[in-house]
Amino acid sequence: MSGVRKIIHIDMDAFFASVEQRDFPHLRGKPVVVGGRPGKRGVVAAASYEARRFGIHSAMPSLQAQKRCPHAVFVPARFDVYRSVSGQIREIFLDYTELVEPLSLDEAYLDVTENKKGNPSATLIANEIRSRIFQKTRLTASAGVAPNKFLAKVASDINKPNGIFVIPPKRVLSFIEQLPIGKFHGIGKATEKRMHELGIYTGADLRQRTERELIRHFGKTGAYYYKISRGQDDREVVPHRERKSVGVEETFVDDLETEEEMAHILKTLAKELERRLKKGKLSGKTVTLKLRYPDFDTITRAHTLDNYVFKADVLFRVAISHLKETEALKRRVRLLGITVSNLERTDIKREVQLWLPFGQGESF
Ligand SMILES: [Mg+2]
Repeated sequence: MSGVRKIIHIDMDAFFASVEQRDFPHLRGKPVVVGGRPGKRGVVAAASYEARRFGIHSAMPSLQAQKRCPHAVFVPARFDVYRSVSGQIREIFLDYTELVEPLSLDEAYLDVTENKKGNPSATLIANEIRSRIFQKTRLTASAGVAPNKFLAKVASDINKPNGIFVIPPKRVLSFIEQLPIGKFHGIGKATEKRMHELGIYTGADLRQRTERELIRHFGKTGAYYYKISRGQDDREVVPHRERKSVGVEETFVDDLETEEEMAHILKTLAKELERRLKKGKLSGKTVTLKLRYPDFDTITRAHTLDNYVFKADVLFRVAISHLKETEALKRRVRLLGITVSNLERTDIKREVQLWLPFGQGESF
């Protein structure tokens, strides 16, 4: 092994909007805005390429989007559909490698340095994946192929939509040299402005600065800029192992008898569960109460909500309402537990939050 890695970044094209145009033919060719509602406060979750031509982009207030394109068609987001398409895509990725790191529902890094097909060409794999995604979902994806994550991510954007761009190791430095600083992934508008003020417009300019100088201006991130200006990025592709559920339970030496006792315990459990969900950056749609009677008869009661929850007061409310449907008070209780399943990572949940009225949505 030469030690050179082969990383692919796959990014679906205008994902949510493309799914809507696929499923509703009358939306094809039209400026489609997913999420938000015309004339209402809200935030755009996604925009079709036709809508982007009017300057509409995700996370923009719907009112502003409507102003930019009064004839835009607003449609509600269907996250269940997006999630299931995301699952189909993931299945395809896993045919090639277990080293799949999803960034969101429509983007992932794959490390195909060694792959299940024994295919030495990451470019061929990337194109095969794109065509299989299209066969399976009728949706297009773009791909970037490079020796590391940073470059693969930048590359997938270059020939978007429905394109691929490859940066072989020998082209890394020349590629970075000509790259405008604003195109560097991780350099936002504010940093771009500061770089310009410092006379840094391209990767070549960035590479001329010393590490010390960059750290002085940008703190710790300066060290990262120093490295990426040389095409170095050692971050590994970290596959997420999907957790199925998070739960807490407690068994009691003395059976619980009163509703107050049970409510008190459920409150404590809900608080602990919130702590664990937060720690794992998770929230879930299904809340399950587990309960064991003194004769070891064990039952569960599950309830699936419309949205993802993690807060203790919500978990408690669902659990206590289940408890009231059981024979807990009649038979007494030896064990209580609450579990949350149907989980979602918090960075995915952000997309769901785009749905919230603007007042709650603007915190990120
Ligand atoms: Mg995308």
